[in-house]
Amino acid sequence: MLGYAEGAVPDYQMAAFCMAVMFRGLTSSETLAMTEAFVGSGETIDMAAQLGRRVIDKHSTGGVGDKTSIAVGPIVAACGVPFGKMSGRGLGHTGGTLDKLESIPGFRVELSLDEFIAQVGDVGLAIIGQTADLVPADKRLYALRDVTATVDNVSLIAASIMSKKIAAGAEGIVLDVKVGDGAFMKSLQDARILAETMLELGSRAGRDVVCLLTDMDQPVGHAVGNALELREAIATLRGEGPDDFTELVLAACSRLLALSDLNVDEVEGRRRAEASLADGSAVGAYERWIRAQGGDPSEELLSRAPVVAQVDAPRAGYVTRLSAIRIGSAALHLGAGRRTKEDAIDHAVGVVCLRKRGDEVAAGELLAEVHARDEESAAEAVRAVLAAYELGDERPQAGSILLDVLSSVPAA
Ligand code: URA
Repeated sequence: MLGYAEGAVPDYQMAAFCMAVMFRGLTSSETLAMTEAFVGSGETIDMAAQLGRRVIDKHSTGGVGDKTSIAVGPIVAACGVPFGKMSGRGLGHTGGTLDKLESIPGFRVELSLDEFIAQVGDVGLAIIGQTADLVPADKRLYALRDVTATVDNVSLIAASIMSKKIAAGAEGIVLDVKVGDGAFMKSLQDARILAETMLELGSRAGRDVVCLLTDMDQPVGHAVGNALELREAIATLRGEGPDDFTELVLAACSRLLALSDLNVDEVEGRRRAEASLADGSAVGAYERWIRAQGGDPSEELLSRAPVVAQVDAPRAGYVTRLSAIRIGSAALHLGAGRRTKEDAIDHAVGVVCLRKRGDEVAAGELLAEVHARDEESAAEAVRAVLAAYELGDERPQAGSILLDVLSSVPAA
């Protein structure tokens, strides 16, 4: 891995290796060896020693409409717990936190490691891109996997995520393992295997890990697309977010606070997280963080797409299905994501799914909005979004976004 990070091993050999892993898999000791090799390809940070505090972190396996870190970071910081996170860019049809944050005018995702640590110490919160110093082998391999159809393998995902978490120094980690048609893990069974693999890697590195298995059969919240998602995250910090997204954020925050040095359990963690939404301290932490990274937190400055087209219900009934992957692909084609590594992102465009699974609609009622750069791409996206919705006569069972929780931390 060091050889790959340094350019001595060429891309074509690593691509062949990844494809072999896709077909043959890795044993658990091979996955561990790969994770350790990733960590050893660059520097590691001992955040606890530098800050004198226990640092916590979260990571998602990737989804559609997943702006969770942008809401979780400020809530955790508002509760007095340092939160330092390295995030990624969009992968395939899934969006990336960095791309969303870059919707904010002036926001810098590239801080040096020293600036990163100083900001976590001073402001309590920093979210940055993967630096060249930390796990450089994953940084290169992540981009290669994206273009060689070698993303969705349990060992490759587990080693990629856990090496970054271990190298960045967090002692308590909450992992959001997405399950469903918009996730890399399509079934609960595969998601459990991924979660267990990451729990084991975390335990071997002496970290406390909690995995939330969460629903990615439909997009998270309403908004899919960079600036649109940022607005939704800010609304959530004001306590005005969609129910499913708010639930996901609070589920993550309550576990993060329970893993922190506050000495609270999940119930108290949730109470404090809810209080930060109600008393405005979460929004305050968001604004301080954005300014610290050079951005302007005013919502009015987020870009807006010139064309907004409506997607209306073709019949009356219940929304029985809203395919996350189809909505993710529609947003990608509008320009919210990259089809090749070189593509530029259009931060303004995307889809807002106003109606979700279980909602009742009348014929002609608004299901979703398409935010597009021009009429032609809007018309194409309207067709794609309509195809993502299934309407039926019977209300489907309403399920929680939180499907299961696996933990390496013994119950208190
Ligand atoms: N997120 C990561 O950081 N790595 C993966 O391989 C997939 C999702």
